Amino acid sequence: MAGDQATGSGDLAVDVAAHAEVASDDAAANARLRLRAARAFVFDMDGVLYRGATPLAGVGDLLNALELRERRYMLATNNSMATPAEYVAKLAGMGLDVPEEAILTAGIATRDYLVEQLPAGSGLFVIGMPALREQLFDGTPFHPVQFGEEQPAAVVAALDLVFTYDKLKAATAAIRSGARFIATNTDATLPTEAGLVPGAGSIVAAIAVASGVKPTVVGKPEPLLLEQALHRVGVAPADAVMIGDRLDSDIVAGNRAGMLTVLVLTGVSTREEIASAGIWPDLVLTDLPAVLDTMIGNEA
Ligand SMILES: [Mg+2]
Repeated sequence: MAGDQATGSGDLAVDVAAHAEVASDDAAANARLRLRAARAFVFDMDGVLYRGATPLAGVGDLLNALELRERRYMLATNNSMATPAEYVAKLAGMGLDVPEEAILTAGIATRDYLVEQLPAGSGLFVIGMPALREQLFDGTPFHPVQFGEEQPAAVVAALDLVFTYDKLKAATAAIRSGARFIATNTDATLPTEAGLVPGAGSIVAAIAVASGVKPTVVGKPEPLLLEQALHRVGVAPADAVMIGDRLDSDIVAGNRAGMLTVLVLTGVSTREEIASAGIWPDLVLTDLPAVLDTMIGNEA
């Protein structure tokens, strides 16, 4: 780590900068101890475990080491356009054997949140793709509501590739008539091979503007998705680590949830962006092999 090398440089006169360096090294040492003791690890997926369809170095070794050491782990994504079963298949295609219960999509987290919040038998008006409907309605106490049929208890908004003005109108009317407004996430854009395309956040913003109501947001950077993940494994935030590649999403959410936060440098955010963003992970580690080394106390 660059920070370690900086303090290893020897006989510098004690000055303010040196104190700052020592303080931050103490914090990093403390963070390493917390990582070693952590009972649950929550991972973002894209940019952390894989990039596109390619697994990143060390992912299999790390997941195996967690299982061997009886640490719980969850993979948490803002995406609601694929079901946990589809993620299991995607990961299996990369040679990673992950149980379905270890995957928490924003769709499933939204469902679990609504089960807590709404009476059984509630109707939901959904703006989203078929995978989201499956996650919200398969084996749940909810039923889908079409516009004009009945007043829904909640409007659930996510990325919808066939979003229309009529859907915006229906969602607006339902919220103005008292429906709860829930967003799976507020990602402004989505990276694709064709470049950035509008994400769920652009659709959620349209509904928020038209209805005059701010949504309850499940996904990162809000803490709810990570809180649901920890609830599933029965581990308190103080005993858990969030490992992500995006400062403005994974790290903010982990900090808000009260978890130890680790930025890995295999995805979107760089070390240089930390100060300008003003978002501080507890640790910055280059990649998953560095996470494993830190966890087993093997770092250089
Ligand atoms: Mg990511």
